[in-house]
Amino acid sequence: MTDRISIDLLNWYDQNARKLPWRIPPEDGKAGVIADPYHVWLSEIMLQQTQVVTVQAYFLKFIDKWPNVAALANAETEDVMKAWAGLGYYSRARNLKRCAEIVAFEMDGQFPNDIGELKALPGIGDYTSAAISAIAFGEETAVVDGNVERVFARLFRISKPLPAAKIPIHKHVKTNFSSVRPGDFAQACMDLGATICTPKKPNCLICPLVNLCDARVEGDMERYPVRPPKRQKPSRKGAAFVIQRKDGAIFLQKRPDSGLLGGMSVVPTSDWNSNQDGKTGSDAAPIKLNWTNKGEIRHTFTHFHLVLEVWFGEAETTTEEGWWSGRHELAGEALPGLMKKVLEQAIPDCTKPK
Ligand code: SF4
Repeated sequence: MTDRISIDLLNWYDQNARKLPWRIPPEDGKAGVIADPYHVWLSEIMLQQTQVVTVQAYFLKFIDKWPNVAALANAETEDVMKAWAGLGYYSRARNLKRCAEIVAFEMDGQFPNDIGELKALPGIGDYTSAAISAIAFGEETAVVDGNVERVFARLFRISKPLPAAKIPIHKHVKTNFSSVRPGDFAQACMDLGATICTPKKPNCLICPLVNLCDARVEGDMERYPVRPPKRQKPSRKGAAFVIQRKDGAIFLQKRPDSGLLGGMSVVPTSDWNSNQDGKTGSDAAPIKLNWTNKGEIRHTFTHFHLVLEVWFGEAETTTEEGWWSGRHELAGEALPGLMKKVLEQAIPDCTKPK
């Protein structure tokens, strides 16, 4: 079956490839057009933990503001964090900036094509280095993301649960991938997993690999990949304090650069984190005010759920470290999704562009 999978998959991809702003369409690739490593790297970093549909607008915004790696390396970190706001997993943005600086200033603006050298750069792990090397440089590399894992676990009915299943999955991808078009093969697997071999109700009837798929023969496609039992996420609670000036400006602070929401803009909160609850009452506020309770908001991080009690107060000054963000500036601040929820709970529509 070795060649069958790659031949059938690439024929399907030639007709059905998703049009994505960072991607070279298969017909252009076959005509010799090469993907821009900067585009491939930027999109792959954004796609870690984030859906394609969300990433597209962010990707276009980034390449419009910073059309190449040198431009991004020379940008203000604060501006990069602001442009990233809303995408989540903010350590990615900090690593993105550091990686751009290394490539621009120490590597003559050229991304390396070697997996080991790519992996030595900030924010680039096993998967991302493989994806960049296959897609941007045509290196013969097996690329395995969640979509590829699902497709291959089903094709070969891999009964080991994840993460142990990654080893046989990787082996099967390596045996079956196209050494002629490794980048397109990776993208074809991703597209098949995203559009046809979906987690629920895969559309096997239109799948190009239907005659090669063991799980389809047995009719137990949704069983794969086998997952270990889910661990319950802990629930944490705390309080957030929205302070407004008479002119409508909101008091913001910057989180420390490392850790949860690192480097992002936030309103003052009580001392909660993934391991401990914070206080929920107005007694935890950084300054004494006539606080009004605005109800609670819920947010889920990778490792825990959070319920924040939202408090609102008015003040003209504070000695706390931070800054006042005017009514027209708030939408442009580096506000994570959690803080947008807090602010909207206290003052509806305040984070929308004015
Ligand atoms: S036949 Fe069905 S389960 Fe098998 S790879 Fe295709 S879509 Fe996935």
